[in-house]
This record gives sequence, C-alpha cells and structure tokens, in this order.
Amino acid sequence: MKSHGRLSIHASTKPRDLMAPQPLAGAWTARVLTLYPEMFPGTLGHSLLGRAHDQGLWRLEVQNIREHGIGKHRTVDDTPAGGGPGMVLRADVLDAALAASGKTRGKWPTIYLSPRGKPFDQSMARALAQTDGVTLLCGRFEGVDQRVLDKHRIQEVSLGDFVLTGGEIAAQALIDATVRLIPRVLGNAESTVEESFSQGLLEHPQYTRPTEWDGRPIPEILLSGHHAQIAAWRRAQAEALTKERRPDLWRAYLERQGKDPETGQELSDAHTIAAKGETKD
Ligand code: SAM
Repeated sequence: MKSHGRLSIHASTKPRDLMAPQPLAGAWTARVLTLYPEMFPGTLGHSLLGRAHDQGLWRLEVQNIREHGIGKHRTVDDTPAGGGPGMVLRADVLDAALAASGKTRGKWPTIYLSPRGKPFDQSMARALAQTDGVTLLCGRFEGVDQRVLDKHRIQEVSLGDFVLTGGEIAAQALIDATVRLIPRVLGNAESTVEESFSQGLLEHPQYTRPTEWDGRPIPEILLSGHHAQIAAWRRAQAEALTKERRPDLWRAYLERQGKDPETGQELSDAHTIAAKGETKD
C-alpha cells in the first residue's frame, strides 16, 4: 500500500467505487439521476478522469430514479396523455427524485439531456466547468413529463441531432468534456489551449514517429525546429480544415476577426463592432 497525502492507493482486482464519497469537499460535482445507475461511472472511471476523481478533483453522485417509483412495483412511467406509442417518465416521480437528490451549493444548474435541447458545445463545457456542480436528469422511453421541467426550470441540452435510447451516454459525454477543463485535471502535456474549438477552429493534423511510415513522411516543417514557422503552418492547416469541414465555425471565426464571412475581406469598423456584439459610445 502506498500513501499519497490523504489518499491511499493499493492494488485491487475490484473496480474502483467512483460513487463513494470522496475526500475533497467542495470539488465540482456531477449529480446524475438515472434509471440505470449501474451504467456509471462507465468511461468516466478510466484514464485521466478516473485519476482526477481519485484525487478528489471532482465528484460523481449517482441516484436511482426507481427508488422514487410508485407502489409495490416502483412504477416510474405511464402512457402519454393524448395517446401515442411508448411511455413517459412521471412528473411526480422525477419531482421526488429531485427533492431527495440533496442540497446544491453556489452555481448549480439542473439539465435534462434531451434531443430537443440546446446543442452541447465547448463553450457550454467551459461555462459548466465554472459552476459548483450540475444535476443531470437522464430520460428514457419517450422522455419526461413537461410539467417537471417547467416547475424546476430545467434546461434541456442535446448531444446532437440524433436520438439515443437514454440520457446516460449524453450525461457521460457532458461530464467528460466539462471535467477535463477543471484546473489540474489534465497535466501540462494535455493542454486545452490549442485543441479543437478553443480558438474557434478545428485542430491542425497531428503526427508522431516514425518520421516516415508507409511511404508517407511527416511534413518537413514539423521537423525544422522553427517554432514560429511551425505555429504558422499549424494555424494555416487549422483554418483550411475548418473552412472545408465546418462552414458555420469558419463564418463565426472570420466575423470575430473583423472579416466579411463571404469574401474574407476586412470589414469596416462599424461592421466589426456589430459582428463582435459590441456597442460604440
Ligand atoms: N421522444 C423523444 C424525442 O423524440 O425527442 C426521444 C426520447 S429518447 C428515446 C429517450 C431519452 O434519451 C431522452 O429522454 C433523453 O434523455 C435521451 N436522449 C436521446 N437523444 C438524446 C440526445 N441527442 N441528446 C441528449 N439526450 C438524448
């Protein structure tokens, strides 16, 4: 057994229990309400995030909605009002689950993972990483009764324009993207400064040894040791990739640079100010 400050680490054949209370109070917390608690920690228990959790840099609390089900069978759903296929998670059950989920502190949004929600992106992950925690409601079946969303003013957030069978994968994706932005979770080697979306661009291509593989050499500039030229090459590659693959990001990038999204030409001051959403005195 090896001691690292307050934590002790020892070899074990049993999976780590990421749901047990961890040593650092006040760490960023993801509180997940789900019908499938056994799906957690899932991917979150591995690699950098699993280690960061063990170090107390973030906490995971998983609560079973079924515990608040009604009657002997702990029923959580019912047929849709107005007819139609499938089942809907009941408002009274979810309300009880939310009430029992424990106190929140500081800035702590509640989010329902939903294909109808605002698409999740890097800026949302950055904003969430600045909160004290988040409560994530994972839907199943046809979704949840609207009244519980209205009562608790729950935000809906989508992982993308497709339909999953449940919110658990979406919750794990949101937690992963958020936790890696919490200070000290990534080592120096894994910088978030230059990765995709950090500057509104997709990331440049990456290469590693061997310098020639399968008749394909690494671009010569990357072996030159000339840092300024390498940075310029990477920037140009990132711009070209973004322009080709993500016209939406490219337009926004040009606008932020004070350029016309159609022509790439510099805009006048007035246009630039409008594009940046600034006001002129
Ligand atoms: N009837 C719903 C609709 O058409 O919008 C879809 C329900 S889906 C089968 C079941 C649950 O999966 C949802 O309640 C939600 O929690 C989750 N889910 C499905 N797709 C999602 C997505 N793109 N992003 C986030 N959560 C999603």
